[in-house]
This record gives sequence, C-alpha cells and structure tokens, in this order.
Amino acid sequence: MCNSLNRAHAPSSSKEDAPAVSLKQGASPALAPPAPKPPELARAAESATVDQTFSQAAQSLGMDQGTIATLTDAFAGKVDLHRDLRKGDTLSVIYDRPQGGAAAHDEPLAVRLTTGSSSHDVFLYRDPQGEARYYSKDGKSTRPAFSRYPVAFTRVSSDFSLRRLDPVTHRWQSHDGVDLAAPIGTPVHATAQGKVKFVGRQTGYGKVIMLENPPPYSTVYAHLSRFAKGVRKGGTVERGQVIGYVGETGWATGPHLHYEVHVDDVAMDPLTVDLPGDDRLRGEERQRFAKEAESLSAALSG
Ligand SMILES: [Zn+2]
Repeated sequence: MCNSLNRAHAPSSSKEDAPAVSLKQGASPALAPPAPKPPELARAAESATVDQTFSQAAQSLGMDQGTIATLTDAFAGKVDLHRDLRKGDTLSVIYDRPQGGAAAHDEPLAVRLTTGSSSHDVFLYRDPQGEARYYSKDGKSTRPAFSRYPVAFTRVSSDFSLRRLDPVTHRWQSHDGVDLAAPIGTPVHATAQGKVKFVGRQTGYGKVIMLENPPPYSTVYAHLSRFAKGVRKGGTVERGQVIGYVGETGWATGPHLHYEVHVDDVAMDPLTVDLPGDDRLRGEERQRFAKEAESLSAALSG
C-alpha cells in the first residue's frame, strides 16, 4: 500500500562488507584442518499461477501448512484472499537453495502476490532469537496493528459503561463506546486498517463510519461533522488514515468523537481492550532488513 514511500527508507550508504564470514583470525590455515565448505546457496525465484486458491498456489511452490498460514496472515491486511484473487494472479517467491538441493528453510525469503495490476510484497526477517516474521518493505510488521486513539482529544467526556443515564434521552442505557472531546473539525483517524462497512447517517450516531478491521475487531466513529474524501462503503482504509472530522451530529451534547471497539461483535471498552500492538523493526535490525529487502525486491522483479 505504501510502496511510494519505500525508497526513502533504503539506506543509501550501507557498506557491502557487514556480515563478512570471519575466517578464524589467528589460526594458521596450515595447522587447522580445512573446514567443511558450507553448501553454496543460490537465490532462486519461483512463481505459480493462482488457479484456485492462495493456499493451492502456495502448496505448488512447496510450502508447508504452517508457512501458508503465516503468509495468509501477512497478506490479510492487504488483500482479501477469498474474494480479491482471480484466476491468473501470480504468487512469486524467493528461496535460498543449496546448489541443486531443497530449500534451507520452508519459509521463502520474499513473497510477491500480484493480483490484477497491483502487487504486494512481504519479506522474511529472522529476529536474533530466530523467529521468522514477515514485514513490508518499510520494516512494518505485516501483522495487523491497532492504535489506541482515533483522535487527538482533550479529555474523555464519557466513559464506556454497561448502563448509564443518557443525558439527551434521559433513559438508562449502556454506553457502548467512549466519548473523546475534541474541537469540531479535528481529524479522526482509522485506528486500524479496515474495510468500510457503513458510511452515512444513523439516528443517534449522526454521521457515522463503521469499519471492519482485521478479525475479530470492528470499530465505529460517530457524531462526525463530515467524512473525509474517498471514504466510501466497501472501500478500504489504512491505519492512521483520516476518515472524517469531529462534529456533534446525532445525539451529541457537544463536539466529541464517540468511538467503539467491538471484538467478535461485542462492544468492549476502547480504552482498555487488548489490541494487537505495533510491531516494526527499528535501529540496526531495520537497517539490516532494509538492505536485504532491497535486494530481494530487485530479485522478485527479475
Ligand atoms: Zn458516546
């Protein structure tokens, strides 16, 4: 999604000599028996055409079920693998293979899913503990992440509660979200990537946007003064994207954002609910990754 930004992250001056194999400094080659030569790894690009499903295409490239599940998650925030894939889309991967042998690992180093005219890349990174995870080229984890707050608010004007007296209708009711007071016109950001389930007016909510976020989450943004351009039903939004502006439409006693988080369709307190954390590479890890992703990306483009 953010391909246009990627180039800015590539370190332009990284040297090529970083992880050079250290050749037993101090040990004379004459005394030490020659170390067995590690098998030469060759970077191999392979691709498959999507005939039926993503997993069928992945299987045809030799991936096991665990790897396919990991990749399904990695792409879930970018492509709806059940609905967006068409016959003829392609799945391309890069493996390091010993000369003429099987891949050293099941996980491909890089994967590109091309559907229609758009393509999505993910790159493998092993953290120092050896855990393999996929990141987009800019070092952001492909696991969906959530922001806690959709707006720069001044105060919480009403808490989440299961039962309270509504100040407008004077009826006892639950408050399924949290009210975040902010001046009219303050931008409202999507707290996570998602699909727009509803955008329009509803009694009580006023101008409201409902998002289907990565399962099991969905979010609601109400009392908006207006919607951001380009936000329409069925469309997708990125985390952090401005989707609307604070207002006081519907049953609102003052300008604020009424914000709800649902987990499996049950309203939870947005201020305390467990959210998938932000997970991105930083510092040295990020630099190592960026260099590797740059060369893998070139290899994917063949
Ligand atoms: Zn509210």
